Amino acid sequence: MRTNTRYSVVVPMYNEEAVIQETYRRLKAVMSKTGEAYELLFVNDGSKDRSAEIVREFSYWDPTVKLIDFSRNFGHQIAITAGMDYTVGDAIIVIDADLQDPPELILDMIAKWKDGFEVVYAQRTKRNGESKFKKWSASLFYRVLRASTEIPIPVDTGDFRLMDRRVVDELKRLPENNRFVRGLVSWVGFRQTALEYERDERLAGETKYPLKRMIKLCLDGITSFSYKPLKLAGYLGAMLSGSGFLYFLYVLYQAIFTDATIKGWPSMIGVMLIFNGFVLLMLGVLGEYVGRIYDETKARPLYIVRESYGIQSSKDKPVL
Ligand code: UDP
Ligand code: MG
Repeated sequence: MRTNTRYSVVVPMYNEEAVIQETYRRLKAVMSKTGEAYELLFVNDGSKDRSAEIVREFSYWDPTVKLIDFSRNFGHQIAITAGMDYTVGDAIIVIDADLQDPPELILDMIAKWKDGFEVVYAQRTKRNGESKFKKWSASLFYRVLRASTEIPIPVDTGDFRLMDRRVVDELKRLPENNRFVRGLVSWVGFRQTALEYERDERLAGETKYPLKRMIKLCLDGITSFSYKPLKLAGYLGAMLSGSGFLYFLYVLYQAIFTDATIKGWPSMIGVMLIFNGFVLLMLGVLGEYVGRIYDETKARPLYIVRESYGIQSSKDKPVL
């Protein structure tokens, strides 16, 4: 089914009752400036607060508002995926609910799209109001990712972007579970361009990305797009084994040709700790990959929708 909806804005939200009203107001103001038909699709990712109710109320009197209500919290990347599955517009914009990404930038994105670009991603030149640790770790992550993969995933770029319908249709063909959406968008290709902006502070509420989730996202990004961590064992193993062999030759020489007593105990403990630590570390790396393979073989659906509001298609199935 195709409608004449031109733009679809996807907003994932998890416990965002403090900001969602303002987000709606700002998005409305921006989108009405386009003068074309649009939809605002909110994905409630199992919020425990009133986020879903607030959006549902909007949807009663505003037909541009749509809501997908998950049965539980499935995570930010899955929420974005679900949003894209249900959209009907010719251009799809993904934006966070917390107004860290300025909605006004959407108009510039649309201009670039009209110039012929199929993906317009927003690249942060500056991040305001975030902790030093977050800025530093995020910056490190993007650079490690860039070094470990052949796919040109842009640095300092979140999920705030505009995508052409064709791009989203291709993304729908990628059924993987542990998704790193911004990487997948790079992977599908098409004509892509950047728009620079300064990232603001969160309007209200607190981050939904504690350290644990940040690490999970990093690991998803790296394991989805690179085998390099797996190869590390081979390279480092060869190096360590080589130097171990040389050291052994030296010890043999000492034992046979000199009178020196060989003091082994502390150095042995040291070497054992280093080697055993390394073996366990590599087992962990293997585990990260094996666990993800296991997730794929289970082939569970990515998300479960409890209810949806304002969606036209029959039985609330995504429009494919
Ligand atoms: N979010 C979500 N599900 C989650 C965690 C976050 O849908 O499990 C949404 C959240 O409501 C926000 C966006 O993802 O709209 C980005 O989250 P957040 O602003 O907390 O991340 P940060 O900007 O701190 O990295
Ligand atoms: Mg945020």
